[in-house]
Amino acid sequence: MKIAVLTGGVGGARFLRGLVDAVDPAGVTAIVNVGDDLEVLGLAVSPDLDSVLYALAGVADEDRGWGRAGESWNALETVETLGGEAWFRLGDRDLGVHLVRTQGMRAGRPLSAVTARLAAALGVEPTLLPATDEPLRTWLDTPNGSFAFQDWFVARRHRDPVDRVRFEGATDARPAPGVLEALHEAELILIAPSNPFVSIGPILAVERIRSALERRRTPCVAVSPLIGGRAVKGPAADMLQRLQGGTTAAHVAQCYPGLIDVLVIDEADAADAEAVSALGVRALVAHTLMHDPAARRRLAEAALDAVAFA
Ligand code: GDP
Ligand code: CA
Repeated sequence: MKIAVLTGGVGGARFLRGLVDAVDPAGVTAIVNVGDDLEVLGLAVSPDLDSVLYALAGVADEDRGWGRAGESWNALETVETLGGEAWFRLGDRDLGVHLVRTQGMRAGRPLSAVTARLAAALGVEPTLLPATDEPLRTWLDTPNGSFAFQDWFVARRHRDPVDRVRFEGATDARPAPGVLEALHEAELILIAPSNPFVSIGPILAVERIRSALERRRTPCVAVSPLIGGRAVKGPAADMLQRLQGGTTAAHVAQCYPGLIDVLVIDEADAADAEAVSALGVRALVAHTLMHDPAARRRLAEAALDAVAFA
């Protein structure tokens, strides 16, 4: 079965791991956010692509929740000692990936081609695609100023309330090779339980991706990143409150107007189902906390079953 999944980093990566346990991984294409990408110490870093890559390669650090297992921090300690740029935590094993990516891109290869090589080298079976090969960067306008995504998220620990999310470069960005094909060929399109504003938003800011979704002939099922109106981790609930006016499942559905047929919501949000239906979106109630492999797989299966409701 061919499935295209729009995804951010950690939440999306957990969901994808469940999905590849439930279906043939070769049929899965992950279309990944690049709005968080940045340059650190001269290296091209793609945090969401790497979260997905590490999760699917089975080398992610499950306890820390980001980065690689068995990580060490010698290079970063040296950088710190030397007074270099150390605010963005890059482990030694992680750095190896950024070195290879940066070299590939300096040699003129697009991010999508470099990503394909990394995925193949790490034995990852699903197709991993950046939403676009062109620079698309997320900016947050806040009462305290405008910040590039990682300045806001990591350096300022997403403490500034967000008034507006902008995607620099999105107007001209073309989908990376394979993205539109994956969306057109998919028998099912999934939106992972990722942050709607800063993980899925940048992907949908690529005009031809959004219009492919608007004109889809196949069902699109999103999974809510909220449980009981709260984010499992990160700023999703705060952003929903401020930018969408609330944190119910209906507010999540409103992030994807005309783009989804079904929203998988948590049991804790079951009372929101009617309000979601009123928006023309079917609500499917499931257990959505992905605390272990079995739970991840069950959530993926629930999203697959949702096709019957679309
Ligand atoms: P990031 O790019 O690393 O921030 O990752 P994503 O945007 O893909 O994922 C962040 C979102 O995942 C947050 O809004 C979390 O609420 C959500 N999330 C994380 N774990 C779970 C889970 O087990 N279940 C659900 N439903 N959402 C989750
Ligand atoms: Ca991210």
